[in-house]
Amino acid sequence: MAERPYIVGNWKMNGTRAMLSEARAIDRGAQRLMKVEVALAPPFTLIHPVHREAEQIAVGAQDCSAAPDGAHTGDISATMAADAGAKFVILGHSERRQDHGESDATVRAKAEAAFAAGLKVILCCGETEETRDAGKAEAFVTRQLEASLPETVDGAAERLSVAYEPIWAIGTGRTPTVEDVAAMHNAIRALLVKLYGEEAGNEIRILYGGSVKPENAGELLAADNVGGALVGGASLTAESFLGIVNAAAELLER
Ligand code: PEP
Repeated sequence: MAERPYIVGNWKMNGTRAMLSEARAIDRGAQRLMKVEVALAPPFTLIHPVHREAEQIAVGAQDCSAAPDGAHTGDISATMAADAGAKFVILGHSERRQDHGESDATVRAKAEAAFAAGLKVILCCGETEETRDAGKAEAFVTRQLEASLPETVDGAAERLSVAYEPIWAIGTGRTPTVEDVAAMHNAIRALLVKLYGEEAGNEIRILYGGSVKPENAGELLAADNVGGALVGGASLTAESFLGIVNAAAELLER
C-alpha cells in the first residue's frame, strides 16, 4: 500500500443538501485518521457546500469539460469546478464512457484541461466481463489507459492517480480476486513507469474501485501496488465510508 493511502468517495448522481450531514461526519472521521488521505466527489451541486464545511477532506468533481468556456450547454469547465472548491476531478469513469460515449481521446483532452486549471486527476480504466473472460483484461486496460493519459504531466507523482475499476465489479457486489487485482495493478505500474519514468511512475497511486466495502477493504488494499480505493455505494454513508478509511489506517499499523 502507498505511504499515505488515498480513499476517495464517488457519490455519483446521489445527494442533495440533506446529505451534507454525512459529508460533515466523513470530514470529522478523517480528522481522526490523518495518515489516510480522504476525499469526496459529490455531484457538482454540492461541491461548494461541502468545500465550505470540510476542514480535512479534499472535495472533487466527477467530470469536467475539455473546453475552457463557451457554448457548451450543461457542461462545467475545470476552472469552474476549481472555483467551486474542487481540488481534483475523476475522469474517464466507465459510466461516463458508457452513458456519454466518452472516447479515450476525450478523456485525455479532459485530463489536459483539468491539469491546466490546477486540478489533480483520478483517471479511471477497466474492462468488461467479456474482456476478462476472454483473457484480454490486462491488454485492454493498459491500452485504454495509455490512450487516455496525457503524454506529459508536470508533477505526475503528486497530481495524477489512476483508478482500476473492472466494469463488472461496479455496484454489483462482485470483486476480482486479490491476485487478479495485484496482477492488473502491476501491469498498470509498468505502464506508468514507461510513460512517466521510474521516479514518478513508481509514486503515482493506483486505486482499486468496484464494490469496495468495509468487509473487503483490508484484503484489497493490502494487494500489491494498491495505493487506495475509489468507492461508490459504500461512500454514501459516513459509517460505511469511514469503515473503509479505518481498514486503510489499520493496514498502516501492521
Ligand atoms: C465506482 O463507480 O466508482 C464504484 C467503485 O462504485 P461501487 O463502489 O458502488 O462499486
